Amino acid sequence: MDSDFESRFVNAEYSPSDDNDIELSLRPKIIADYVGQEKVKENLSVYIEAARQRGEPLDHVLLYGPPGLGKTTLAGIIANEMGVNFRVTSGPAIEKPGDLAALLTNLSEGDVLFIDEIHRLSRAVEEVLYPAMEDNELDIIIGKGPSARSIRLDLNPFTLVGATTRAGQLSAPLRDRFGVIFRLELYTPEELSEIVTRSAGILGINIEPEGAMEIASRSRGTPRIANRFLKRARDFAQIVGDGSITKEVASLALSKMEVDDLGLDSIDRLILTTMIKNYNGGPVGLETIAAAIGEESVTIEDVYEPYLMQIGFLSRTPRGRCVSPAGYRHLGFQMPGQQKLDV
Ligand code: ADP
Repeated sequence: MDSDFESRFVNAEYSPSDDNDIELSLRPKIIADYVGQEKVKENLSVYIEAARQRGEPLDHVLLYGPPGLGKTTLAGIIANEMGVNFRVTSGPAIEKPGDLAALLTNLSEGDVLFIDEIHRLSRAVEEVLYPAMEDNELDIIIGKGPSARSIRLDLNPFTLVGATTRAGQLSAPLRDRFGVIFRLELYTPEELSEIVTRSAGILGINIEPEGAMEIASRSRGTPRIANRFLKRARDFAQIVGDGSITKEVASLALSKMEVDDLGLDSIDRLILTTMIKNYNGGPVGLETIAAAIGEESVTIEDVYEPYLMQIGFLSRTPRGRCVSPAGYRHLGFQMPGQQKLDV
């Protein structure tokens, strides 16, 4: 393990929930080890190389896409490739302008400050960020009432990497201050299989190519889910198999976790069946679905919908969400009106 990099992975007040040691060791540290997202990697490599040649920090980068697709990992790679410190925080962790001021004044020249869930910054904190991003300056107010005065501090030039699940959630002035905006896409089963195989190698797990593909094709296009399934499949391989993850062992582990052939879990199926049974497959509003199944609407929108839309089971229309004929078929329901047509 690259201990130099690990020591640079400094957590400022915030630790992503699954960031234990194993998680950290699975994160690729250089761009060449980052699987997939080819267009992003190609452009990013050019920007990094150009900034390095000019001896300047990289322009501010906004990464957006569903959770678990590798935004934090990519931010760490940027810091590593630029040879600078990596500071991690998140929108909800920065409560007051003073919290952000403390983070910014502690940055060394060129450092990468990663703000996860950047859309959750308060307006007051955002206002401190604007001059910092644009002119490397910090305006702070000292004191209160009539004796309060504003002083301006120079900051070391830095790179802000912001992550959000949807770029549309960001205020326009903040979004406009990012020079580079990348959208991360869901991964193909082939790419996920490569990630699973790489992770198995790091964790010392025996896995057959068919086992890796089984996990990959049922991981909803998401590396974090693929790595989680890999660890659970290892448990099954150890207890019911001979220690090696075969296709059968992977399949058994996934069915025990109620993950079906296409990677849908119990919540995905609940969303679709509720829409079919209670709302004739839609159109039905997001809030109505959320209330019916007892999930937050943002969770449905950010975590469940992207994959259901990618596999063509769900569509968004101006009047609400609709289940597609393929969605009906997968869950074993008949489309309304179809019976008559079939006769
Ligand atoms: P996000 O910040 O978008 O929620 P993370 O960066 O935390 O996602 O990624 C989740 C996990 O998935 C990481 O621990 C990493 O091991 C793995 N991962 C993500 N993207 C990739 C990739 N492109 N190649 C290899 N592993 C990846």
